[in-house]
Amino acid sequence: MSQLQPVRGTHDLIGDTARRHAHVVDTAREITRRYGYEEWSTPIFEDTRVFSRTLGDTSDVVTKEMYTFEDRGGDSLTLRPEGTAAICRAFVTNGLTQALPQRVFYNGPMFRYERPQKGRFRQFHQIGAELLGATDPLMDAETIAMAHAILKALGLGDAVTLEINTLGDLDSRQAWREALVAYFKAHESALSDESRARLEANPLRILDSKSPQDRALLENAPKFGAYLNEASRVFWDDLRRKLDLFGVGFVENPHIVRGLDYYSHTAFEFVTDRLGAQGTVLAGGRYEGLVAQMGGPATPAIGWAGGIERLALLIDAAPVQPRPVAVLPTSEATLAAAITAAQTLRNAGFAAEIETRSSLKKRMERVVKSGAAHMVLVGEDELARGAVTVRDLGKREQTEIALDALADHFLKAQ
Ligand code: ATP
Ligand code: MG
Repeated sequence: MSQLQPVRGTHDLIGDTARRHAHVVDTAREITRRYGYEEWSTPIFEDTRVFSRTLGDTSDVVTKEMYTFEDRGGDSLTLRPEGTAAICRAFVTNGLTQALPQRVFYNGPMFRYERPQKGRFRQFHQIGAELLGATDPLMDAETIAMAHAILKALGLGDAVTLEINTLGDLDSRQAWREALVAYFKAHESALSDESRARLEANPLRILDSKSPQDRALLENAPKFGAYLNEASRVFWDDLRRKLDLFGVGFVENPHIVRGLDYYSHTAFEFVTDRLGAQGTVLAGGRYEGLVAQMGGPATPAIGWAGGIERLALLIDAAPVQPRPVAVLPTSEATLAAAITAAQTLRNAGFAAEIETRSSLKKRMERVVKSGAAHMVLVGEDELARGAVTVRDLGKREQTEIALDALADHFLKAQ
C-alpha cells in the first residue's frame, strides 16, 4: 500500500511543535487560573444548529468553512469551528444560567475548511476564555488584560499590539448599518463580487474584507463613532478608562468588526507584523444574544480565542524538559534493583529511564550522547553493599550512593 499522508490542512504535533503547543496551553491555563477561571471541555462535534443558529447565516465560517455531516442516525452534526457557541450551549444545558458569573477557560482543536497556508490550517487549535454574566466594562477590560498577561508570559509583549473598537448596541449598529449600505450602494461597482453579494445581507462584514479593492473603499466609509448612541458611548469611554487602570496599552481601529455575527460593544484583536498575512493571534469581544439563542436567559458575556499554531510560531522556544536519569543494570542479575532504583526516583518526582538494550558500553555511549545529566549504574559489587553508582555526566564525577538514599541524593542536588 502506498504511504498514507495527513489530510490537507492538518498536522501532527510532535517534538518541538508539540512542546511549543503545550507551552502555550500550560501558560494560558496558569494565567487564567490566576483570574479565577475554570477549565471546561466540550465535545468536538455538536448539533449543527449550535453553530448555524449563532455564528450568522452570512459569516464565512457558516457559509463556506464548516465540516458538516450526517451521522448514521441521520442527525446533522458539525465539527466545531470555534469554541464560544459550544461553551454557551454547555452553560445552558448544564443548568448554570443562574450561577453568574462563570469564568471559563478552554482549549482544543477547531475545524474550518480554509485554504491552508502558514498559520492557517483546517484542523487548528485555540485557547479561549469566556466570562458569562459580564455586566460591566470592568469585566471586558479584565478579560483583555488577562489575554495580554498570557501574551506577555509567552514573551510576546513586544510582538503584539492590542487594537480595539466598539460595535455599540443594537440601535447604534442599526443606524450605522443604514449609513454603510447607502455608502456602499453609491460605490457598488467598485466593490468586489463577494462584498456586493453581501451588501444587503451583512454590510458590516465588508469592513472585514481582505480584498484590496474593498479596502480602498473603506477609507472613506462612514465611521461607527459618529453613530453611537449615548449608552454605547458611555460604555466605550468606560472600557478605555478601565484598560488604562489595568495598564494595558491599545490603539483604536475602527475597522475591527470580527468575523462572526454575535458581537456588540467591545471588539478587539491582538495583532502582529511577524506572521505575514495571518496577523491576528488572539481576538474576541462582547456578545449579548448568544445564550438566549441556545434557549437560556439573555446573558451578556465577553470572550476571546487565540490561535495556538500562530502563538507557537511566534514564541522563541519552548522550555525543554531535562532528559530522564538513565538507570543501567550492568547485568541481568541487577535488573530487579534497577527497577527499584527507577521507581524510587519516579516516586520522588524525577524522570527516569531504564536502559537495557545492547551492551553496557553501547548503552553508556548512547546515554552520554542523549544529553542526560545523570546515569545510575546498578552493578553487582555495589549492590552487595546495598548501593548503586551515580555518575554526574556534566561534572564527570561518580559516587556510590546507598539505594535507600538515592531519592535524597537527587533531591539535595536540585
Ligand atoms: P482570520 O481573520 O485569521 O481568519 P478569524 O477572525 O477567522 O481569523 P477567530 O474566529 O476570531 O478568527 O479565531 C481566533 C483566532 O484563531 C484567530 O485570531 C487566529 O489566531 C486563530 N485562527 C482562526 N482560524 C484559523 C485557522 N484556520 N488556522 C489557524 N489559526 C486560526
Ligand atoms: Mg477566518
